Amino acid sequence: MTLTRQETDAPTHRRAAPATGEVSQETEVGSIFVSNYPPFSFWHRDQLVNVEAALASTPHKATDFGLYLHIPFCRKRCKFCYFRVYTDRNYDEIGGYLDALVREVELYAAQPAIAGRSPRFVYIGGGTPSYLSVAHLESLASRIQAAIPWEGAEEVTFECEPGTLQRAKLEAIREIGVTRLSLGIENFDDEILSLNGRAHQSKEIWRCLPWIEEVGFDQLNIDLIAGMVGESWQSWRETVAKTVDLAPDSVTIYQMEVPFNTRLAQGVKEGSLATPLADWETKRAWHDYAFEQLEKSGYETSSAYTVVRKASDCRFVYRDSVWHGCDMLGAGVASFSHLSGVHFQNVDGWGEYIAALGEDRLPLGRAFSTDQQERLIRELILQLKLGELGGGYFRHKFGVDIFSRFAPAFDRLARQGMVELGEDRVHLTRQGLLRADLLLPEFYQDQYRNARYT
Ligand code: SF4
Repeated sequence: MTLTRQETDAPTHRRAAPATGEVSQETEVGSIFVSNYPPFSFWHRDQLVNVEAALASTPHKATDFGLYLHIPFCRKRCKFCYFRVYTDRNYDEIGGYLDALVREVELYAAQPAIAGRSPRFVYIGGGTPSYLSVAHLESLASRIQAAIPWEGAEEVTFECEPGTLQRAKLEAIREIGVTRLSLGIENFDDEILSLNGRAHQSKEIWRCLPWIEEVGFDQLNIDLIAGMVGESWQSWRETVAKTVDLAPDSVTIYQMEVPFNTRLAQGVKEGSLATPLADWETKRAWHDYAFEQLEKSGYETSSAYTVVRKASDCRFVYRDSVWHGCDMLGAGVASFSHLSGVHFQNVDGWGEYIAALGEDRLPLGRAFSTDQQERLIRELILQLKLGELGGGYFRHKFGVDIFSRFAPAFDRLARQGMVELGEDRVHLTRQGLLRADLLLPEFYQDQYRNARYT
């Protein structure tokens, strides 16, 4: 995958960051990315009954609907990867997984809450969706679309790893309706790529770029990671300069995290890393530098992680819909969904997932049914990552003046220089934007503060 962060889908034993907006300067083992609320550690199997009720209910017509398809295969496991991915599955095993994925979508499509709904977006993530063969890809797309057609979708995103692309595959990707190609470059430096266990090298990036250009997609996004093992100011400047030269429609930048269950975390604990990890202050400085350079080159910030070409109609429907509380079915092992206020996640074991679908059962693992306050906070913290929030949306949707209800939290963040408060608006300062995930626990309800995140 290209670090889309549908959700975290493997146990990382993360704790929510303390509600102070500050972290140690050292990069510690752990992780800070906030992708959902309430924290995953509060989701339980005994709430699955609420999923059945949500699936049996009539959907709210105004609620956006989207589909996420999880393709959990990669050529090689990156040292920082904490996702549910497999690097050892053969062609037939992959085919068996795709059969299960199709069956899952068919089962959903027959439910009253889903039947007849057209997705506004489709997100094909992983893992590495571009690891699939052309035959698998075409068969998957046609069978899924027989259950839930996506020709009317505003956006179909597809994640790619450079070394898995050939021109014919890119043509097939475009042919199935993909509008937004997300390319996981992460860095252009071969030594850094290899130190971090990435499967690709820079020659594979340069090989696939002309094909992407020739085949033509509505949008090309490039993912970078600030602070990979071996990064220096010089190598980062070069990576940013090459990205500027490529002029993609959008660039997404993540600060390197070290979740517990990664090879990198193991290396930190054992003291066996070839070079030390950059501290948080340095990673934020690199992130800031990349934003600055891209802004000078005609981009504008569209979230804490992403810049887009100014005056383009470059959007990210998946992100904006999810952060505004859409219904989304996530199909695939360990995938996450949200329907009518109920969060749910599939089982995270390969065998269990395939077996459930072999018996025509949805492979559900755990769930959480939110109340109105939890839904409000979820949208508030996720939308805050866009860099700006207005009060009108929340008054209209939740009947709540967020600037009154959360006045102490907003005031604390303003005093720390993380936000600027305006007339019925809040705006993250650059300092706030660079550490957005750390600020969010300010808004958590007491029972979720300092709790395990996953
Ligand atoms: S192994 Fe690497 S490419 Fe595959 S999902 Fe993990 S981070 Fe993404």
